[in-house]
Amino acid sequence: MNERPCRSGDTRRRFLQTNLLGAAALGALENRSGEATPADETPWYRRTYRWGQTNITENDPLRYDIAWWREYWKTTELQGVIINAGGIVAYYPSRDPLQHRAEFLGGRDLYGELVKAAHEDGLVVLARMDSNRAGEDFYRKHPDWFTVDASGAPYRAADKYISCINSPYYEEYLPDVLREIIERSHPEGFADNSWSGLSRDHVCYCSNCSQRFQSQTGRKLPARANWDDATYREWIRWNYRRRLEIWDLNNRVVRQAGGPHCLWIGMNSGSIANQCIDFRDNNGICQRAEMILLDHQARSNAGGFQQNAEMGKLIHNILGWDKLAPESMAMYQAGQPTFRLSSKPAAEARMWMAAGFAGGIQPWWHMISAYHEDRRMHRTAIPMMQFYKAHEEFLVNRTPVAAVGVVWSQESTDFYGRDRANDLTELPYRGMVQALVRARIPYVPVSLKNIERESGRIPVLALPNVGGLSDADCERVRGFVERGGSLLATGCTSLYTESGDTRPDYGLARVFGAHVMDAAEAGRAGRKPEPMAHTYLRLSTSLGAKAYGPKSGKEPAAEGSRHPVLAGFDETDILPFGGALLPVRVDAGATVPLTYIPPFPIYPPETSWMQTERTEIPGLVLRTAPQGGRVAFLPADIDRRFAQGNLTDHGTLLANILHWLIGERLPLRVVGSGFIDCHLYEQPGRLVLHILNLTNSGSWRAPLDDQVPLHPVRIVLRQPGAAYGTARLLVAGQTQRVLRNGPDLEFETGPILEHEVAVIS
Ligand SMILES: [Zn+2]
Repeated sequence: MNERPCRSGDTRRRFLQTNLLGAAALGALENRSGEATPADETPWYRRTYRWGQTNITENDPLRYDIAWWREYWKTTELQGVIINAGGIVAYYPSRDPLQHRAEFLGGRDLYGELVKAAHEDGLVVLARMDSNRAGEDFYRKHPDWFTVDASGAPYRAADKYISCINSPYYEEYLPDVLREIIERSHPEGFADNSWSGLSRDHVCYCSNCSQRFQSQTGRKLPARANWDDATYREWIRWNYRRRLEIWDLNNRVVRQAGGPHCLWIGMNSGSIANQCIDFRDNNGICQRAEMILLDHQARSNAGGFQQNAEMGKLIHNILGWDKLAPESMAMYQAGQPTFRLSSKPAAEARMWMAAGFAGGIQPWWHMISAYHEDRRMHRTAIPMMQFYKAHEEFLVNRTPVAAVGVVWSQESTDFYGRDRANDLTELPYRGMVQALVRARIPYVPVSLKNIERESGRIPVLALPNVGGLSDADCERVRGFVERGGSLLATGCTSLYTESGDTRPDYGLARVFGAHVMDAAEAGRAGRKPEPMAHTYLRLSTSLGAKAYGPKSGKEPAAEGSRHPVLAGFDETDILPFGGALLPVRVDAGATVPLTYIPPFPIYPPETSWMQTERTEIPGLVLRTAPQGGRVAFLPADIDRRFAQGNLTDHGTLLANILHWLIGERLPLRVVGSGFIDCHLYEQPGRLVLHILNLTNSGSWRAPLDDQVPLHPVRIVLRQPGAAYGTARLLVAGQTQRVLRNGPDLEFETGPILEHEVAVIS
């Protein structure tokens, strides 16, 4: 199907409708003229699942083998391509002399030739922009369109000047470029790389910014970054609003010129902290976007492959599961270190893709340059793209089935996390997710603003050190518990307001059954997580003299049975901790299964003995709410410590607490050895289960180049709502019988190399 610009199709549709033709005749006519058929009424952004991008370099006009790439588009089953158009570098002869033409473009319209070829091949085209900086010539003509520091000197990135988002660069120049590109080539939409301008690290003091900030807020631009300063906070929020205005402005421009389905889509990061630094409001963007384009090309050692699945679910939680979120997936050596022209090991690239599929992300191979002396990267994506095409009905439009919702907040990342968001918000979040993955508990990230929606759908919410909550946010969480939901909150959750001011007590103190002792001190300490210290947690119920091992002669008698959250710690009275605690006062009726043991020396070993063996400072507070939901408040920052140290005991403790909160409401068990990430979804009449084999990657550094297969694993679906009979294993190409075991259903997979997708119906 050759898709034409939206506007001409719309004009024709209006013309035909005014001539009183029926819908069928309209469809037939449109079909003849190559326009959308009735069956294709679904707009391109709801049905273009498989993407590819050859990111053009300035010398590519001399060597771009279009015929070969067209064949490659077919081989990789593409439905859409991203083609470099303009911005920093133009690949077409722009009428605007300000737009820098690619050095070796000559008079050629390489972009236009590629769009024509793609449209002939029935592909959707996104014209790629990079609209945030320009060279010396441009800057000399319009110095007032560019960002400047307090002394008036321009901000630069390498030899380029960074344009200001409050200047006519964004309001006049770019709209003209977008309109020109639509007139010349009619792309279905636009992708824009670094669209959000200067990041949070710098304040732009240009006259546009000064005047606009003054007129909109009544204040002068902040002299420096100071999170305690109301002006700086206002500047942060003002910057977010401006990026959303830019999003809306660009979409108005391209819709006006290209028709109602022509979209401008800025790229977004997969990291909340990065989104904060770039003033990209995840919730605001997803509320207005029909499609999200993710620039999240490779894994970090810290996040692992599983982070791609996590991020896909996070985006869909706010975007909706009916919309698409393709992600640029590097076929070259992206990450640490980066080599643009070397191939990433295929196993590494494919696992990242498989993890993306598990999180509802659509594939998009990405290569830099149209010619490669390292040709290995051309083979990497082929099997993954073909797998996606063969099974895509199972990979989109799904609803996650989860036992735990992990709550995140961009506002808390900004105003509580400030310049230490990695320590304060990212690490606790990652540690929580890591514990869930390790325990094979199906989870879904939940935006703080979406909590009410998840009531009744997800039994447990986890708030990993979500420090900054507004009164309304606290009310949302309280409401979740009052409706029977269970809660795990850690660290400084709710100790601050949404603007980052310290509260006199936790905003959720009554829900936690715990209160701060000294608010001012707690507020200071909660912003400065201690470096790893030599501290421990004491299990409140001693094993006593019955335990295996030498005796000191001081052991108390065994103190009876332990709380289920301490399961598996049957031969220890202490756990390693490593953090510091805010002392809390506990309400009557709450249980304290862990207490704090303060630091003592590690070195020299002669001094390594507990000078204080026991305190009353709670490490964990448990209670049951009157409505039946369970609440666990973990003042000990075990989630952050798990992300930092990867200690088994920390993962096990978090998993135990989560299992106690989930109770009988765990939908899935995966039985078998290995490091396995599982994601369960519902579609009408069936379940879809992704199993990722992380066994290698979890125990070694990136990149992965070889994979050890998992032995077959047993899948137990606990009390599913329907009587499913078969499990079709899409990767193995087999179908297994599903057996009933009491109220549960069970089946077994085959060996799993990279991943398996089971369709249970
Ligand atoms: Zn400015």
